[in-house]
Amino acid sequence: MIPVTKPFMPPREEYEQYVQDIWEREYLTNNGPLVHELEAKLKGYLDVANMLYLSNGTIALQIAIKALDLKGEIITTPFSYVATTSSIVWEGCEPVFVDIDPHTLNIDPALIEEAITEKTTGILATHVFGNPCDIEAIQAIADRHDLKVIYDAAHCFGTTYKDRSVFEYGDISTTSFHATKLFHTVEGGAVFTKDEDLNYRMSRMRNFGHAGFGQYDGVGINGKNSEFHAAMGLCNLTYIDEILQNRKKQCLLYEELLKDAPIKSIKIQEDSEWNFAYYPVIFGSEVVTLKVKEVLEQKDIHPRRYFYPSLDSLEYVKSEEIEISKDIAERILCLPLYNSLGKNEQVLIIEDIIN
Ligand SMILES: *Cc1c(COP(=O)(O)O)cnc(C)c1O
Repeated sequence: MIPVTKPFMPPREEYEQYVQDIWEREYLTNNGPLVHELEAKLKGYLDVANMLYLSNGTIALQIAIKALDLKGEIITTPFSYVATTSSIVWEGCEPVFVDIDPHTLNIDPALIEEAITEKTTGILATHVFGNPCDIEAIQAIADRHDLKVIYDAAHCFGTTYKDRSVFEYGDISTTSFHATKLFHTVEGGAVFTKDEDLNYRMSRMRNFGHAGFGQYDGVGINGKNSEFHAAMGLCNLTYIDEILQNRKKQCLLYEELLKDAPIKSIKIQEDSEWNFAYYPVIFGSEVVTLKVKEVLEQKDIHPRRYFYPSLDSLEYVKSEEIEISKDIAERILCLPLYNSLGKNEQVLIIEDIIN
């Protein structure tokens, strides 16, 4: 069977060494030494000013919205994972969907301004499949209307924009280190900001608001992560260059094999280096998409309709239909892509798409 993704598994002995050390220290969680080490190494690797390691990418979004004190309406994309929208609703705000660019699949900046009302306080945009949004256009709009910008950069480990980690953009960027992501810590996530005060507040928020024993600095939640998760991250980080290079080779092979196929791939944002996190293909119609999916599944190959459905169809949000997002959601499949996926398997997958 070829699944859409498989988690990267480091050599077991390497993880076990960390487990042995954890047993000796008897220090399991609460900002322990491995969490510190992982944060320091990730900050170095990504070359970012600040990073707070969290329990997952959803709590990262929730803390970001809370820390920026967003209220009322938040402009967002309907073409993302459900956590982008559900976090807005969870924080008591209202998502206002703006349609996507049909080539990059990211929120279309040209449509943002007409969606701004007196109640708008922020923009929460996803860098879809690791491909950066039009960051400059979005920032210019935010500056003009005094709005905060959060990027859901859950897919973006390794992506750069203008030679810097894409995590450095927006008031806050969030990411996920879930097992299905390119770099993972089983469960995990992070927030990034260049604003020291904001970073301080988020560091309090992830730990119940504690500012020392018996002292609290504002309301908080439990967003911490454990030594066991950090250990997985430390193991995986030693393989990250190999994982990124492999991902790129695999995507270029898909591109080559599909060059005459009647499909479309995504357009990568200018001035960026993509991390090749996913391999989405867009077909001419939903009928063709479902047919390809069925044929592949008969051979135990499992591409995923990702993202499907468009989030404007969620029953707990009120929204009109968002046309381009809905149309793309109906015609897109992400092809299998993971570190151990072999060349022959890729050829096998493509055969059914072109024939
Ligand atoms: C994975 C993902 C999330 C959620 O991250 P978790 O770590 O699973 O909570 C949020 N947004 C997007 C776009 C994602 O792909």
